[in-house]
Amino acid sequence: MNPTLAAGRAIVFLAPHVKRLHVFVRRDLSATMSRYLIDRISALCNVEIHVGTDLTELAPSGDRLAGAIVRDRASGTSTRHEICLLFLFIGATPHTRWLNGSVTTDDKGFILTDASDSSLETSMPGVYAIGDVRAGSTKRVAAAVGDGAVAISQIHSYLSRLSKEVA
Ligand SMILES: Cc1cc2nc3c(=O)[nH]c(=O)nc-3n(C[C@H](O)[C@H](O)[C@H](O)COP(=O)(O)OP(=O)(O)OC[C@H]3O[C@@H](n4cnc5c(N)ncnc54)[C@H](O)[C@@H]3O)c2cc1C
Repeated sequence: MNPTLAAGRAIVFLAPHVKRLHVFVRRDLSATMSRYLIDRISALCNVEIHVGTDLTELAPSGDRLAGAIVRDRASGTSTRHEICLLFLFIGATPHTRWLNGSVTTDDKGFILTDASDSSLETSMPGVYAIGDVRAGSTKRVAAAVGDGAVAISQIHSYLSRLSKEVA
């Protein structure tokens, strides 16, 4: 899922449960978020959007969060906001470094599969990639489950080809 979409939905979900909700974003919401979601967020009177900001530091109090330091990208000015809960929606990094180049990935680390014939096989024969970690996947639960079902069928075909070659 696109992180901005996830963030937008989280704002709509969380706002009714809190007194005040601060949203720190680097770009204007319209740059990445659908109009319908922006309109829903704009109608929430306890939501304050801080556009053009970077979260730079967290301020604890004992073992709890007490504040967040936020820098305005244009002016460079830092401001402290008193917050006690924080949710991060800033995208995802695939956990694939351990593969150590044994299968081909794109420049972000997502695993490439043979897109030419809808195969989910990676650059290593007999090794398949499914779900979010696969380059170009839809990043949704249903898509990951669908990939799983397709991969099982492709693995059956692979094993049957292999057993014919060995026989
Ligand atoms: C905040 C948020 C909200 C979302 N909301 C929705 C939504 O509303 N609807 C929707 O359809 N999708 C949503 N998604 C996306 C959805 O969660 C993913 O598309 C889905 O979970 C992908 O499934 P997956 O099995 O490919 O990956 P994951 O669910 O990420 O599972 C991968 C698993 O592999 C494990 N793992 C990683 N490395 C290793 C390793 N080396 N060895 C063994 N295990 C390992 C991980 O711990 C994890 O358990 C959301 C995602 C996020 C982050």
